[in-house]
Amino acid sequence: MSEGPFSQLIIRGVTLINGNGAPPISPVDIVVENNVIKKIQVVGYPGVAINEDRRPKLAAGGRELNCEGMYLLPGFIDMHGHIGGNSQGADPDYVFKLWMGHGVTTVRQPSGRGIDYTLDLKRKSEKNEIIAPRIFTYTGFGQGSKEEISTPEMARAWVRNNAQKGADGIKFFGAPPEIMTAALDENKKLGLRSACHHAQLDVARWNVLHSARAGLTSMEHWYGLPEALFEDRTVQNYPLDYNYNNEQHRFEEAGKLWEQAAKPYSDHWNTVMNELISLDFTIDPTFNIYEASRDLQRARRAEWHEEYTLPSLWEFYQPSKISHGSYWHYWGTEQEVVWKKNYYLWMTFINEYKNRGGRVTTGSDSGFIFQLYGFAYIRELELLREAGFHPLEIIRSATLNGAEALGVSDKIGTVTVGKLADFVIVGENPLENLKVLYGTGAIKLTEDNEVVRVGGVVYTIKDGIIFDAKALLADVKRMVLEKKQEENYKILQPGIKE
Ligand SMILES: [Zn+2]
Repeated sequence: MSEGPFSQLIIRGVTLINGNGAPPISPVDIVVENNVIKKIQVVGYPGVAINEDRRPKLAAGGRELNCEGMYLLPGFIDMHGHIGGNSQGADPDYVFKLWMGHGVTTVRQPSGRGIDYTLDLKRKSEKNEIIAPRIFTYTGFGQGSKEEISTPEMARAWVRNNAQKGADGIKFFGAPPEIMTAALDENKKLGLRSACHHAQLDVARWNVLHSARAGLTSMEHWYGLPEALFEDRTVQNYPLDYNYNNEQHRFEEAGKLWEQAAKPYSDHWNTVMNELISLDFTIDPTFNIYEASRDLQRARRAEWHEEYTLPSLWEFYQPSKISHGSYWHYWGTEQEVVWKKNYYLWMTFINEYKNRGGRVTTGSDSGFIFQLYGFAYIRELELLREAGFHPLEIIRSATLNGAEALGVSDKIGTVTVGKLADFVIVGENPLENLKVLYGTGAIKLTEDNEVVRVGGVVYTIKDGIIFDAKALLADVKRMVLEKKQEENYKILQPGIKE
């Protein structure tokens, strides 16, 4: 399934789509030594035979990878990747192979099964003892603490301890203002980064703008942003029988939030956006994870579920009063239409944020709401397209922007001499059709009127190690099939009994 790293690896004849916004260029040979990019050489012109004498020479013990006609991009960065959870029954190996099979070579885990668990995987991945992306661990704020963090002093102590343990940052869900202020201040002093899902319970007193001013480096999803944009209210227009612990209440009412915020391009809207950009604040929208809200059938009937979704994960997705994000108590046309409008306003903000120089990254948040690891990351790219991003802006969002937000753009994020050899190689032009990046490929009708599938990542390269992306996905299929056989399980749609 993998080979390398090599004392020398020459990837020949690719079209390079860099993560820096540059247009595609070909043919290019890329020389890698062990895990570092040493040379990027344009070796000819489109439609003209390559002069072999002008190409980089293979050294003794080197390895050539002929990728003529293929497209090479920097490895993708998933800024919101949960490495499975007990409730999903998804093992790291399953999750990692789905990611790597879709070109994801770096993942930021925003809280998970605890810091020790994640650090162990991170170190194994660093040494390439396991097949896994690079891992950045942002510990859930307060995780591992015996008592609830209730004073600024406790917050500071927890933050110092988190840094000492080796975490890369913190993932917040919101907290009282004095706790957020202290924690963010301490974290900033230590030079660590942070992410926040501004949960509704604290957002009335502490929205995205408060966070950004206090030093938060990135916001997740979108909660807390409409609240920063309120003009004629200070809390969301909750119905009076609302209960936050009722998942349908929570998600249905969230769908009405953007409409309660300042209108696009209004003074207040502009002021908030400009201030966030001036604070170098990153937005990680994770559009895909809410998509079932506007089209439940699309999400639950995605073609990959049959072969790639584990029975335990499928069970976790089912409507339930208990599982988080399984809010389909009675989800109909009314809710979906409201959410479509919500998306429109949200996407308008994100696209303009990007246009004014704000940093937007690509995160998936898979493992919830019918969104599957790897596949959902590609869907996120498609949704950035829907928001108005040029495909080159999408690739930058998925690569360089993520690297910048993590503080590692000197090592990854673009194909540049001196950086690490993390690449995605695909047979078709992903700018023309992002769907070629899906493990299940894109549908195409040939000249001879035959329906075929094209695409799927061919190679994922991490640290100079070549992974056969299709073999990784075949292994995932095998894992899923084995589980189904063990449990005599068949994927059925909600409410259907056989
Ligand atoms: Zn999350």
